[in-house]
Amino acid sequence: MRLPFRAVLAALAAAAPGLAAQALPQTTAERTDYAATSTNAEVGAFLDSLELAGAPVRVSEMGTSALGQPIYFVIASDPTVTSPGEAAASGKLVVYLQANIHGGEVEGKEAVLALLRELAGARRELLRTLVILVAPDYNPDGNDALGPQAVNRSEQSGPALIGQRADGKNLDLNRDYFKAEAPETRASLARVYTTWDPALMVDLHTTDGTLHGYQLTYAPPLDPNGPAGPSTFVRDRMLPALRKTLQDKYHESIFDYGNVETPQAPQSWDTYAPLGWYGTNYVGLRGRMAILSEAYSHADFKTRVQVTHDFLVEILEYTGRHGDEIRRLERAADRQTALEGASSAPRPSLAVAYRLASRGVEAVRLEVMQQVRTYRLPVRDRFVDSLTRPLPAGYFLPAADSDGAALLRLHGIQVQRLAREWTDTVEVLTGTELNWATREFQGHHLLEVTGTWARTPRSVPAGCYFVSTAQPLGRLVFALLEPEGFGLARWGAFSRAPGMQLGASAGREFPVWRAERAPRAPSRVLP
Ligand SMILES: [Zn+2]
Repeated sequence: MRLPFRAVLAALAAAAPGLAAQALPQTTAERTDYAATSTNAEVGAFLDSLELAGAPVRVSEMGTSALGQPIYFVIASDPTVTSPGEAAASGKLVVYLQANIHGGEVEGKEAVLALLRELAGARRELLRTLVILVAPDYNPDGNDALGPQAVNRSEQSGPALIGQRADGKNLDLNRDYFKAEAPETRASLARVYTTWDPALMVDLHTTDGTLHGYQLTYAPPLDPNGPAGPSTFVRDRMLPALRKTLQDKYHESIFDYGNVETPQAPQSWDTYAPLGWYGTNYVGLRGRMAILSEAYSHADFKTRVQVTHDFLVEILEYTGRHGDEIRRLERAADRQTALEGASSAPRPSLAVAYRLASRGVEAVRLEVMQQVRTYRLPVRDRFVDSLTRPLPAGYFLPAADSDGAALLRLHGIQVQRLAREWTDTVEVLTGTELNWATREFQGHHLLEVTGTWARTPRSVPAGCYFVSTAQPLGRLVFALLEPEGFGLARWGAFSRAPGMQLGASAGREFPVWRAERAPRAPSRVLP
């Protein structure tokens, strides 16, 4: 249905370019004076109008949602780029802006649509240094599950009708990045992260109700297991600079994302969990830069759209100005990660458990009893390890685990399959204790695995998989496969092995083994 309509309008636009140029569309939020937010169909119509009016955008679809809706995906570029290869050849940095991962958190969607329109005019300059990818409505099913704001998101100031947090499979997409069960996650892994490999990802949200004195809060990637260079650049250079710019240029007050445990007697300002289940943390594990943006839920809808828009503009300006440095840091991270896995650089010890750490005591503005007050609090904006394991050369997975191998391939991780048996000393988790959470979370009973590591000679049969850490995604390999951490084991990924089923209290040994060196047996790299 969409293509013929587009073709007709394209013909009209070609015949009357002057007319088309006047017809830059308004967002639903703008048209309704911020009483309403766009449905997914309205997002599609807006993007079509924009493209037909001659804006430097190409509209496509990243994939299809659980309920069959298109997940719109826009490539903004000048001159036109339509593929990752062309983007690489252009020498420009690729940036990915993702809005509406949580269906009711709607201002990011309206802000990116307005920004895309501005790329047709005043902000076209941004495309001299950047290729900008945009998913304006990453969770179309959640977006269109409209209900009263007071019901769907009680701690939010409008608009009157908004969608729901989860996707069409009732999954929270911002907990799905490792297990990738949602079609939206799978689409973004296949069509964005492993293909375009964006240098920077921005994930747009609304806070869940904490009362503070900022229009927007932000966070860098938080998992200390990620390559340090890119994430540290975001945390220590980019975000402080953006905070100052938003204040100086727009008089908008922004700060690190955080919560207080007891609002009546605040002790510290604490960020959220460092796990790679969350999008921006996941991107950090890939050695790329990412920013979590959380507009203040108690600010009115128009204010939230505005501050999100301004934050995005300044992120893009900053990224464009620092393109060479960003690229250098990310290439160095890729190289260093692969060297560590190959033992050509010292192998790091990485976290399987974490604790919050403070960057120091600072003024933090909290709202208590309808008054914004300043408190001197430790700003706990980062995590350090509280229990570590050394990075191994890689992991062996059982031959039966073709699903696991396929999931790793979806993440863009190189996987080898042994063509012959290989005998070597490996590390095996023995005497495992399995603690299944009693409450269900995202359709799973999360599994905590503990045990004792033993070095032991083993025959690894032909058909088993070897996943090397000597690759640019080596840190992500650790995060996904280290049994005691928060990786796939936590989601029960290996629990079909004997003794590992839900309800079992102990398995004989964990089916994923740590390799001390890469196997010297013939193997095939999976396509
Ligand atoms: Zn959110």
